Amino acid sequence: VIEVRDLHKAYGELEVLKGVSLSARRGEVISLIGSSGSGKSTLLRCCNLLEDSQRGEILFKGEAVHWKGSGLHRHPADKHQVIRIRTNLSMVFQQFNLWSHLTILQNVMEAPVTVLRRDREEVEAAARKYLDKVGIGDKCDVYPAQLSGGQQQRAAIARALCMEPTALLFDEPTSALDPELEQEVVKVIKALAEEGRTMIIVTHDMRLAADVSDHAIFLHMGRIEEEGPPDQVFGTPKTERLQQFLSATV
Ligand code: ATP
Ligand code: MG
Repeated sequence: VIEVRDLHKAYGELEVLKGVSLSARRGEVISLIGSSGSGKSTLLRCCNLLEDSQRGEILFKGEAVHWKGSGLHRHPADKHQVIRIRTNLSMVFQQFNLWSHLTILQNVMEAPVTVLRRDREEVEAAARKYLDKVGIGDKCDVYPAQLSGGQQQRAAIARALCMEPTALLFDEPTSALDPELEQEVVKVIKALAEEGRTMIIVTHDMRLAADVSDHAIFLHMGRIEEEGPPDQVFGTPKTERLQQFLSATV
């Protein structure tokens, strides 16, 4: 569904990604781990074209992104392609990013109605279904400030689902939450993995990564240092850097 080949990304002089490749097949869950500043968020943002990149290819369902310009001036050439890809790779952020002036239901309905121009009634039915699914069906008419962090993050997941995306991209979805609230969100993510959703999950939660992913990638200073099946990556790490990283996070 998503494929990244030899991706390079720099902010000015700072090289953040130095040739990263990954691919997520339909139904596959990939976890992305690594220390702060290793480039995890940048990689995720490059995948759904929130960031430009200087070199390398990004493919969505086998369709290559068309680029214009080169080096620091390289950016996607086709606006419609960008929108198509971005709406199909729905992102869930650490800081939920809900609109505070809209109710939970309105938050979930907003993008499908205004960006995708889908029928309002159908979207409302879908929004209620997804809010039920993440366990906050009774919170449709309240505002984000009236919810706990865990409920807000579940609302953000319902909002991502309501785009009917091909894949979900999570950037540290549980990092802003207290441990008890974290588990509510972990449960939802596990349920999504079980129903065969395609997901890329950046997380500091090694147990979540080990439990849900089919493939784990350890990023270190903009390069993939080690990757493989989670039992191997978490159980028998080969590189010293990953061993150090894992012993520091337990
Ligand atoms: P964390 O675990 O802290 O979220 P990360 O692995 O997600 O870290 P990134 O956010 O991808 O790391 O950042 C990688 C590097 O790129 C960092 O050195 C960061 O300072 C830098 N960086 C990120 N965004 C920008 C930006 N918009 N402009 C300049 N530098 C940036
Ligand atoms: Mg990050």
